[in-house]
This record gives sequence, C-alpha cells and structure tokens, in this order.
Amino acid sequence: MEDSLIAGKTLTEWKKAYPLLNKIISMEEVFWKNPKYQVYKEAVITARLNEENVRDAEERLSRFAPYIAKVFPETQETNGMIESPIVEIHNFHNQLEKMFNQNIQGKILLKCDNQLAISGSIKARGGIYEVLKHAEDLAIENNMLTMNDDYSIINNDEFRKFYSKYSISVGSTGNLGLSIGIMSAKIGFNVTVHMSADAKQWKKDLLRSKGVIVIEHNSDYSKAVEEGRKQSDANPNSFFVDDENSTDLFLGYAVAASRLKKQLDELNVKVDEDHPLFVYLPCGVGGGPGGVTFGLKLIFKDHVHCFFSEPTHSPCMLIGLMTEQHDRVSVQDFGIDNLTDADGLAVGRPSGFVGKSLENVISGVYTIEDKMLYALLSTLIDTEDIYLEPSALAGVLGPVQLFKSRSGRKYLEQNKLFHKMANATHIPWATGGNMVPKEIMESYYNKGLQISSEMGDMLSKLKKSKKF
Ligand SMILES: *Cc1c(COP(=O)(O)O)cnc(C)c1O
Repeated sequence: MEDSLIAGKTLTEWKKAYPLLNKIISMEEVFWKNPKYQVYKEAVITARLNEENVRDAEERLSRFAPYIAKVFPETQETNGMIESPIVEIHNFHNQLEKMFNQNIQGKILLKCDNQLAISGSIKARGGIYEVLKHAEDLAIENNMLTMNDDYSIINNDEFRKFYSKYSISVGSTGNLGLSIGIMSAKIGFNVTVHMSADAKQWKKDLLRSKGVIVIEHNSDYSKAVEEGRKQSDANPNSFFVDDENSTDLFLGYAVAASRLKKQLDELNVKVDEDHPLFVYLPCGVGGGPGGVTFGLKLIFKDHVHCFFSEPTHSPCMLIGLMTEQHDRVSVQDFGIDNLTDADGLAVGRPSGFVGKSLENVISGVYTIEDKMLYALLSTLIDTEDIYLEPSALAGVLGPVQLFKSRSGRKYLEQNKLFHKMANATHIPWATGGNMVPKEIMESYYNKGLQISSEMGDMLSKLKKSKKF
C-alpha cells in the first residue's frame, strides 16, 4: 500500500503534502476549510452553467406542474410543484448546545427535503427533473407535444404507449433509484435501476412493486453506475441517467435555491452583508449538494457559505477537493472502506464535474461518524418530532463544527464573520426520510437512543474524572 502510486504519488507523499489526510485515513471526524475558496466575483466565472440554465429548468418544471398535480395527487395542494417546507428547530438547537457544550449563535432552520413529494428525498429534485426533461425532449422531437400545451395530456394511453418504446436506467445507492424509478414508471418508460450493495432491501422491494427492474450489484456505487452505463449504451433506445456527470440533474437541484429565497423572504429572514447564511449539505457523489450550492451562490453570492458533509468512511468529495484530483482518486485508493449506514452518502469516488466546477465555491467539507448520525437522529425525533434517515442527519452537526472546530473558527475569522454570527442563519439540509418504513425508523431510533446514552455516560465520566 505504502509503495503503490495513487494518482502519481505515494501515500507517504500525499500525507506529507496534506497532513489532514492522516486523520481522514484514520476515519476520525475532521473539518476542512477549502483553501481555494474565493469571493464570488472571481469564483463563478469559471463555471460553465449560469442563471439562464437554472431559469430554463424552473420553467420546465412549471410546464410539467399540471401533469405532476394530476398523477401525484399529494402535489395538488402545491399545484404540482414539488417543494419542501423549512422550519426553525429551536428545541433541537438548545439540545445540540447541551450535547456538545457549545454555544451556537444565530438561528437554525431545517430544510425538510425528507418531506418532498413522490420520493421523500432530495433526489425528488434532480432525479425527477431529469426524467421529465427526457420525456419532454422525446415528445417534442416526435411532434406529440409543444411547449405551449397543457402537459397534463401526457397522462394518457397514447403517451404511455409511446414512452414504453424507450428505456431509462440509472445506477444508485438507493434514493436516486427510487426517484428515477417512480417517475419513469409513472410516465410509462421501461426503467432499470442498478443498485449498489449498500442499497436497503425496502428500497428495492418498493421499486419492484412499481414495476421497476432492479438489478443488484455486489459492489459499491461507482461499479453499479459503470455496469448500468454499459448495459444502457448497448441499447439505442435507452437513456442513462449519469449521476456523476449530468448537468440536468445538477440544474434540477439548483432550482431549490430560488424557492428557498422565497421561503426565507416569507419568514422575514434576511441574508445580506450583515446577515450571513450557512448551509450544510450531506454529500454523496456531489450532484445534490453541488446543484443546491450553485443555485444559492447565484442568488446570495458572498453572503452564503456552503459546507458539505460526508461520513468518515466515505469522504470522497473531501479527498477529491483537497488533493485536487477529483474523480481521479477514490477513498479506497487511500485505504478507506466506503462502508457506512448512511446509504445515500456511500460513494467512494466523487463527481469530477461537480468538484471541478465548484472548487472555488464550496466553503469546506466536514466528516461525521455513523454513530453520531444515529445519536442526532433520535435527538431530532425527541426534540422536534422530525424523522430523517441516517444520511440526512449529516448536515445538522454543521453549526456545532463551525464553532467548535479550529478550522471552522478560522473560516469565520478569515471571512470577518465572527461579529455577525448573532445575525446568522444556519440551514442544515435534511435530505431524506419520509419513505423509510415505520419499523425500520423505529430500529434507527432505538439505536440512536442507545448511542446517545453511551455518549452521555462517557461525558459524565469525563466530568467526574475531572472533578476528582
Ligand atoms: C443522494 C443523497 C444525498 C447526496 O446527494 P449526492 O448527489 O449523491 O451528493 C444526500 N442525502 C440523501 C438522503 C441522499 O439520498
């Protein structure tokens, strides 16, 4: 291991160049401040997408809204718009401060993508958008639809027969498969989901019940994607949703930003020079958090600070950004196993597209242990009655780490933010949870309770040993 080369260097050389790698490889929790972070004016010029692309995605979703409202009755209330609430989590805020003995200035609002209609996770943004875009492209090419039509006409047998000539496939750790699978099956596509070994059994069962073909791979996410791509490429009528490189997925996620802005306005939450916004995004391959970050930066520029969060066993975006090697390296190259209960984040190799596009825009990345995810899961249920899946808890530790870690405080200092923190807003992005079956959520909760009480014991022992 020591001698074999990783992207042209030995492990010893990498560790020497980036000493934080020692902790990352030991799978300890770390907080990394991005040294390449730049002010907005200089940073975003390099991105190849812009506001117009995001607006185009917003308009496409509006065209589809009448169709969505018709086929997913749960979206009738929002007229076919798939959007989640945002709520202040005051009780949890207080509890976090107690748990970590850390004052957290500012308020904490939770963005509840666990409640997104149709697939109960952040994947209901990018995944569904990409399927709809493909469906629109095909129907327009074949003179079945114009952009001025009422898209609810797609909900008929003629369209379903048309779409049944086409296939869609995707590689997934679970939630992307759910979102692409449910939407594609509803439209009438043949759909195949290639699941990695991490994918939960209930997610596979649910998809099969909707007529989706689920192929199980005894390998991690990157391999499942590779296999899926290969099989799809062999069929000219098949479209492969490429989670690692798709700009459409990315744009579907980016639409979240203008909607969030509206919600913050409605709550009278200011974001400006004196009112900084901090957003904490659970990260797998990077498309979801990357797209949201891109959208937010276009709107709030230097007033928003976006941090990504990864499991200590799957810190692929962190290693990709830090070494500047992006998708040229995987966590496995560094001897990290990519085994985590946070199935949505169990990705060993990051999207090169996201890493390269946003390398000057992401403020930093921190990692979190699985057992902490569970402790936060049960705490959020106890304090706020909000039920998230383990991956989705990765964001809620952000406000603690920002104030508690040395790098976090350094970030505040360098960006002259300390004296503004009383006016700050923290938004952890709760990326999933509503589809989890009740008995599985209960087992998560019990595990969280157990871990919390062990952590509590440890803390009280520490206090005792200090006293005597
Ligand atoms: C997929 C997923 C993420 C991260 O999205 P990526 O695009 O893979 O980075 C975060 N949380 C949950 C619950 C997810 O399913």
